[in-house]
Amino acid sequence: MNMKLKEILSLESIIQIFDNLNSLLIILHYDDEKLLFANKSGLKRFPNSLNKKIKDVLQLSNEEEIVINIESNSKLFDNKGKPKNSLKGSIRLFNSEYYNYEVFGISDNNKKYKILVLNELTEIKNNLEEAEIQNRMLGTIIDESPVAIWFFDNDANYKLINSFVKNNMQDDKGNSTVLNDESEIAYQNNLEVLKKLNYTIKYEPFTFRDGRIHQLKSIRKRIIDENGKKLGVIGIGIDITEIKNTEEKLKYLKELNELISEFSSKLIHCKVNNIDDYVKDTLKAINQYISSDRVYICDLNNSAKNVSISYEHYQTEDLKNIGWVELNYQKIERWIDLFNQNYYLLIHDVQQIPYSYSNEKLMLENRNVKSMLAFPLIYNSELIGFVGFDNIQSTKYWDNDTIFLLRIATEIIAGSLARKNFELRIINAMNAAEEASRTKSEFLANMSHEIRTPMNAILGFSEILQESITTGVQKSYLNTIINSGRNLMKLINDILDLSKIESGRIDIMPEPVDLLRIFSEIEKIFEIKIKDKRLEFIIDMDQDVIGYWLFDETRLRQILFNVVGNSIKFTDQGYIKISTRLIQDNSNKKNIELSVEDSGIGIPDEHQKRIFDSFYQVSSKSGKRYDGTGLGLAITMRLIKAMNGEIRLVSKPKIGTNFTITFNDVRQAELTIIKEQEFPEVSDEFSFNNARFLVVDDIHNNREMIKIFLEEYKGIVIESDNGNDAIKLASFYKPSAIILDIRMPGMSGFEVLHHIRNDERTIDIPVIALTAVSSAFQEKHLYKDFNAVLTKPVRKDELISKLSEIVG
Ligand code: ADP
Repeated sequence: MNMKLKEILSLESIIQIFDNLNSLLIILHYDDEKLLFANKSGLKRFPNSLNKKIKDVLQLSNEEEIVINIESNSKLFDNKGKPKNSLKGSIRLFNSEYYNYEVFGISDNNKKYKILVLNELTEIKNNLEEAEIQNRMLGTIIDESPVAIWFFDNDANYKLINSFVKNNMQDDKGNSTVLNDESEIAYQNNLEVLKKLNYTIKYEPFTFRDGRIHQLKSIRKRIIDENGKKLGVIGIGIDITEIKNTEEKLKYLKELNELISEFSSKLIHCKVNNIDDYVKDTLKAINQYISSDRVYICDLNNSAKNVSISYEHYQTEDLKNIGWVELNYQKIERWIDLFNQNYYLLIHDVQQIPYSYSNEKLMLENRNVKSMLAFPLIYNSELIGFVGFDNIQSTKYWDNDTIFLLRIATEIIAGSLARKNFELRIINAMNAAEEASRTKSEFLANMSHEIRTPMNAILGFSEILQESITTGVQKSYLNTIINSGRNLMKLINDILDLSKIESGRIDIMPEPVDLLRIFSEIEKIFEIKIKDKRLEFIIDMDQDVIGYWLFDETRLRQILFNVVGNSIKFTDQGYIKISTRLIQDNSNKKNIELSVEDSGIGIPDEHQKRIFDSFYQVSSKSGKRYDGTGLGLAITMRLIKAMNGEIRLVSKPKIGTNFTITFNDVRQAELTIIKEQEFPEVSDEFSFNNARFLVVDDIHNNREMIKIFLEEYKGIVIESDNGNDAIKLASFYKPSAIILDIRMPGMSGFEVLHHIRNDERTIDIPVIALTAVSSAFQEKHLYKDFNAVLTKPVRKDELISKLSEIVG
């Protein structure tokens, strides 16, 4: 202490200052290093330390420090014992407290002392250490992060880049692999945040050390200090290339899947003649989608041991090359083996095909193929060909998922081709069956015509004979001939009808029909039988059904004739009842129900279903034989169906039978189009008064029969056996009417009519057509220019009635 200070401050005041200092102040004896004095803070920290050696008091962790600094007296005093500079340093105590110290030497009255000032630093030191640990951790995190991290300072310099950047975006020598354009964009993006924005997220491409362009999602944030001063920009870049690739691949697979599904559904549901086109469309679309250069279908010809291309499509026209159209098995033996086991063929790189398959390699090289993928087309466990995808411009990598989807697509294609084959076979078989059926019907039609012509003569002449024969036995023989003839005629007509209905050649031609009239006619037809059996015949008409309805009259009559005929046939006593009902449903459709009820022998349950089959008859227990063919109900049911109706049956043996026929959606006729169709009966005294009739028929017997009928009523008959003569005779004689056969060799009846109607001289002569029953039923429209149509065999009363009406 220098003297001047001593003069100002007393020792006491100095001690007081020392005592109130926050620092720990200790005065040591120079010689023995023992504590002479400690201020309040010193005593508080080191109680009972006076007169103890400083070394023991402080309990330092590193004693050298004391030796060097606190105890190194030589540094504190010069040779003459005067204090030199103070010494500074830091010490750590055993309990980890940390202090800054400063030691001064002082001398007083030749006595030397040392003053030690200690300031505790533990907290600061600890904080610093913590900060350093954090720093290091942060550094490691930044460096080891699997993302790119950089710091761009206020002067627009990259101050920090982490190992991700170094490892991926720089080569071994530390040169950037990122292209100039790419780094320029990144630089501008950093500047943008530094200057304008607080924060950005961008997607940037960078060329990495691996040579590929990687997509980085870059997040940049501006850094400022506590005073708001800009420090720079920190950037983080996440490599999302894989995510992006996966996303893109998923999208690609999803779309391919959708494409295949769409085409599959078309292929599964399309008509057989569209299959080929859809297969081609499918392959073309897939080829385009997966960007392969060429797709093709190869058909296998097992017997010729070769394959041939039946369809191919190139992505672009310029890729077309002189590929093979046919190939023999030898060149592609390996493929056929694979395909036969239902494996696919995958060649990533044609150059890699092993030497042992050099044939195959050469063939593909010649065709410029770089990669290929092919799938077998198998159906019914048989290899029928394959579908191939070629890459011509460059090799292509096919991933498993795509291969999987393509495989499904080719399986669907194979299935569709199988369906095509199968359905075509069925269609051909059906056509063949239809053709056979048509031939059968035609044969039947021809046959029945051939049979009908002589039958006509037999019946007609028998009828004529009936009047001249009077002897009992002969008359009964003749009756048998007539009855058998009529039965035979009915059978022929039935068979013909059935075959026509079965081959679908029946047209339903509705016209206005009065049901009551039809019922009465039916009653009349069976009049004799009804009387013979003493049956009651009841007609019960619903008021609502009275009037005209649109029905095919001929067919309706045929139906009733069969059903009522059966009822009479199978009823020996009691009644037959025809009733009608009108049923109107919600949609205002009118259904007409006809029922024919009898009190006859009935039909046992077990037979009820089968009686509608052709040729089915119930064998009667009583052994009684009923005539018939078993065709009636078969025809009836088919006709009813064709007329949009159905037939039901309720029957009990010995009680009776009820057939109910429902015609659906029957329309009421407008009265204006109703024409009177009944003919007046001819009285026995009727006479043609020598009127002339021209009878044209190629069959002599037919002409002869009509001649006899007409002459009986004083008609004069002129005959012609062909159309040409008939035309001449007509213009020469101008007959009162012409009876004209339709089916004649040479000129047909239609042609003859045409000539007659086009000749001034004959234009007004009435012409009656003679035709087969079925033809008249089905081709009614063709007969519209005739004055009347008579069906063969011609019945006398019908002929005379019609002619009398026409001639007047
Ligand atoms: P067909 O009458 O020519 O034998 P159908 O096809 O008209 O042929 O009838 C088939 C069979 O159904 C008849 O043979 C008869 O056994 C039975 N059948 C039809 N209608 C009746 C009826 N009303 N009562 C009893 N049996 C009937």
